[in-house]
Amino acid sequence: MNYDPSINIVDLILRKRDSGTLTRNEIASFVYGYTIGDIPDYQAAAFLMAAFLQGMNEEEMLSLTDAMLNSGRVLDLSDIPGRKVDKHSTGGVGDKVSIPLAPIVAACGVPVPMISGRGLGHTGGTLDKLESILGFSTALSIEQYRRQLADIGLVMIGQTDDIAPADRKLYALRDVTATVEFVPFIAASILSKKLAEGIDALVLDVKYGSGAFMQEESRARFLAETLVRVSEHFGKPTVALLTDMDQPLGQAVGNWPEIVESIELLKGKGPTDLKEVTMALAAEMIVAGERAGTIEEAFEAAQAVIDSGMALDRFKQMVAAQGGDVALIDEPGRRTETALTAEIRVPSGVPGVIERIDALEVGRAMITLGAGRMQKEDDVDPLAGCFLHKRQGDEVREGDVLATVYASSDDRLSAAVDALTEAWAFTETVKAPSPRIRDRYVDRSWSG
Ligand code: URA
Repeated sequence: MNYDPSINIVDLILRKRDSGTLTRNEIASFVYGYTIGDIPDYQAAAFLMAAFLQGMNEEEMLSLTDAMLNSGRVLDLSDIPGRKVDKHSTGGVGDKVSIPLAPIVAACGVPVPMISGRGLGHTGGTLDKLESILGFSTALSIEQYRRQLADIGLVMIGQTDDIAPADRKLYALRDVTATVEFVPFIAASILSKKLAEGIDALVLDVKYGSGAFMQEESRARFLAETLVRVSEHFGKPTVALLTDMDQPLGQAVGNWPEIVESIELLKGKGPTDLKEVTMALAAEMIVAGERAGTIEEAFEAAQAVIDSGMALDRFKQMVAAQGGDVALIDEPGRRTETALTAEIRVPSGVPGVIERIDALEVGRAMITLGAGRMQKEDDVDPLAGCFLHKRQGDEVREGDVLATVYASSDDRLSAAVDALTEAWAFTETVKAPSPRIRDRYVDRSWSG
């Protein structure tokens, strides 16, 4: 990285504040100086806010991504055969897609090296879900990561200290300085981590709606276009799907409940919407990995590895390789034998069709339950969560069970039941649920 310690950070803040532009070298010096502790938090915070308010042009965004990417180790997996492909989702309530997706794609012959994050706020994280499998470790070394990818074509771990360390520090600062929701920062943050993984191509799931990071569709489209452009600038072919996150994805929400639903999907069962999103992303990854020539062929390949049991086997191989209790995958019911449960029922006096289950309200109820985190340091309860028996468009009668809630403490259970009850809206009119996949962005255009 081009670090010039003689650059005066006050000059950079001043220029940005007055809507000037910064050079590649200046941005690299800011990122590196902050990462190694030469630049204090108060100056970095001023810099972030100046950029947030005045904007960054394309060159500045690319320089920021480059500097953050090169603040740590950039893995080279070229000695492992095959095109390595990963997926990134901007996250949502009930979004457990990575868990069934990665083994499906790996079973089709595309190596999947996946470095994921933890949940924060109302959205869950893949690492917390995987760690709800007793014994499963997401803290592998880079050498273990490489070896497992070479051996079984699939590995799912957490970010190590030496991958994009600048993002870890900058994200924590953005979080406490109201500078998270700025597309150049988001793109640099997401892609600095993904581009360091050693992948050859990337598939993105950019979500919008009540349970998503970007609530408005237009902003999600802009984010998708930006992510694809920046990723391709760094030489990685990238496709983005735009998906609806207004309602929870699938029927299970919470860490272990989402693992159980992922196992169902790998057995060819599970909810239609979860299958729709998982299969569409799988098909994109299989084409990007050059294991199918068209999306249609890739769908067939993905369905075939589910039908033959190969995808589930691949998942079990990963669980075993990362120290997890494989027997639990065959008998998931054993894990929840001790959980406390409560039911949410259709109240009296409401119309007989479910109009909406608000994903944000469900996500907030999960925090109350202990399944999600308010602060980064919070522990999560692996068993806490809920199963939505009734979904948008279903006809219901008074007293029908809408959801079962799982918790480890009575207090949390009753508080979460109250919060979750708020998530349901009822109507008179039956309307089929809309598809989750709304658009696809490839070769710089939306296929519509
Ligand atoms: N996810 C990230 O990794 N970074 C952001 O800035 C936003 C979402």
